[in-house]
Amino acid sequence: MNKLLEKFHFPIEIIKTNRQKTASIKLKKEFFEIRVPKHVSNNQIKDLIINWSSWMNKKLSESKNYSILQTNKYKNGEKFSYLGRNYILKINSGNTTSIKLQSGFFHIFVKEQDINNSDVIKLLLSKWYINHAQNYLYKKTDLYSKIINVQPKSIRIKKYKSKWGSCSSNGNISYSWPIIMSPIKIIDYLVVHELCHLIEHNHSNLFWQKVQKYVPDYIFRKQYMNLNSKNWLFD
Ligand SMILES: [Zn+2]
Repeated sequence: MNKLLEKFHFPIEIIKTNRQKTASIKLKKEFFEIRVPKHVSNNQIKDLIINWSSWMNKKLSESKNYSILQTNKYKNGEKFSYLGRNYILKINSGNTTSIKLQSGFFHIFVKEQDINNSDVIKLLLSKWYINHAQNYLYKKTDLYSKIINVQPKSIRIKKYKSKWGSCSSNGNISYSWPIIMSPIKIIDYLVVHELCHLIEHNHSNLFWQKVQKYVPDYIFRKQYMNLNSKNWLFD
């Protein structure tokens, strides 16, 4: 297993072997297995992954094994992710409504009569996520603004249907709040991506060079994001 990939929880396992003359890829239960001859460099593997990505996406969408995706019902025992970690939903009755993350649990306190009301639970959870997304993304954007030396005009938190963020030509950055469910490295990549659009308002080579300067392994994160986006839906 390639250490670099392991570090980012990327669902691809790379096996370097002398037994193989050409590279191959297979979709296993929860990850792709890529086998390459020993002499193949990590950069060459990156290129392979890029070349294979549309095939990989197609394969995933066809695969039944991959759909570990839950349809949220907002009931006890369901898993909800925050910054890449899963927490189990535990609904309790209480005098006030509140949410607390504690030792692997999303503890939700609602009035006795709302314990089975998924609309109430969903609303509470989404408010919690939006709040945390706001704080977290503001801080991260501030941090990376200083590093990259750019200044967005405004930062907005909303919910997009089919993208995680955007940067308008006059410098307004928007993020889709469910991104807060994803691993921190993915959020960092998104923030850097949008901030780099303040310098390059397109997806040219120059733009990706800028992104790479601050997130050298951005290709892995981008790919991870494409493959896992569905797991961060909040519907
Ligand atoms: Zn972009």
